[in-house]
Amino acid sequence: MLHTGGTLMMRGGDPTPLRPDVYTSDLLTELPVLHRIADIETRILFNYDSSDMQPHHWVELGAAVHGALDERRGDGSRAFDGVVVLHGTDTMAYTASALAFLLPGLDRPVVMTGAQRPLAEVRTDARSNLVDACHLATMDLPEVGIGFNAKMLRGCRAMKMDAWGLDAFGSPSCPPLVTLGVTVERGSHVLAPRTRRDYDARIEQRVLAVRVFPGLDPKLLLGALRAGVRGVVLEGFGSGNIPRLENSLVPVVQDAVARDVPVVVVSQCARGAVDLTRYEGGAAALGGGAIGAGTMTAEAAVAKLMIALGRAGEGSRLDAAKRAFGESWAGEV
Ligand code: ASP
Repeated sequence: MLHTGGTLMMRGGDPTPLRPDVYTSDLLTELPVLHRIADIETRILFNYDSSDMQPHHWVELGAAVHGALDERRGDGSRAFDGVVVLHGTDTMAYTASALAFLLPGLDRPVVMTGAQRPLAEVRTDARSNLVDACHLATMDLPEVGIGFNAKMLRGCRAMKMDAWGLDAFGSPSCPPLVTLGVTVERGSHVLAPRTRRDYDARIEQRVLAVRVFPGLDPKLLLGALRAGVRGVVLEGFGSGNIPRLENSLVPVVQDAVARDVPVVVVSQCARGAVDLTRYEGGAAALGGGAIGAGTMTAEAAVAKLMIALGRAGEGSRLDAAKRAFGESWAGEV
């Protein structure tokens, strides 16, 4: 169990300093039942409100998960059957997407969880989420998932949808991988185990994600391109449409492409897919060189673009993005 922060272990409003020794005993005192699910080793990686997680933290966390999955016991057997990552809910969908892309050769479950109310409180969702996440991490689920509110969602399809209720996450364009009801229902779309591969830590952070809205001044985006943006995620309307008449964003797409800066279009709608051939607004973006991201969430598109551009190194960024968004790395489309 890797700790990264979030409400789950908070007292008051902020992450409080955690000491590994007391952390483990606190957790198991609150929830001794966890012992009955698995032998759990806890490690504290960092302790942030997830609003403070940065892409370099994703990479560090990915390396820690990758390293744990490679660890062996004295007799040569693998040290861990699964990994639980405790994380704040606010940016969990970004981190889950990044982990799914950073850990392509996954053969065991990586279950992210957290809570809307701290474990130390009497009325909390932390206990059930922890129990469920630990249980899920013992199952045959070689995916990075979000285990929350009695289900596991594919991490790179999930989004935080509720800051009030306890059912914080949804993946509107992808059914749950597992539903934990009276029985345990496992979706038929759970990926098969993949062969483990080397860890690639490269990532490009200079990505700009912009939600298109009526009146968005293209000059603002042209300025950002001049300032050194390396990749753009445009959240278009409906099936990926952008304005093409007044305040047209087509010149922005063209200017970006001329600078070898890929523009990936996702939809503002939680459900549905980008289809850039459907309306003239989408066709104009496509004609300018934009790349449609299909059913991908904005969270997944940002993480995938950062990782694809990191791996492009000195090569063509456009080619790298076209390749990356033309294929599925972890079931994100
Ligand atoms: N702000 C908190 C975080 O994302 C919220 C949570 O954990 O639910 O770290």
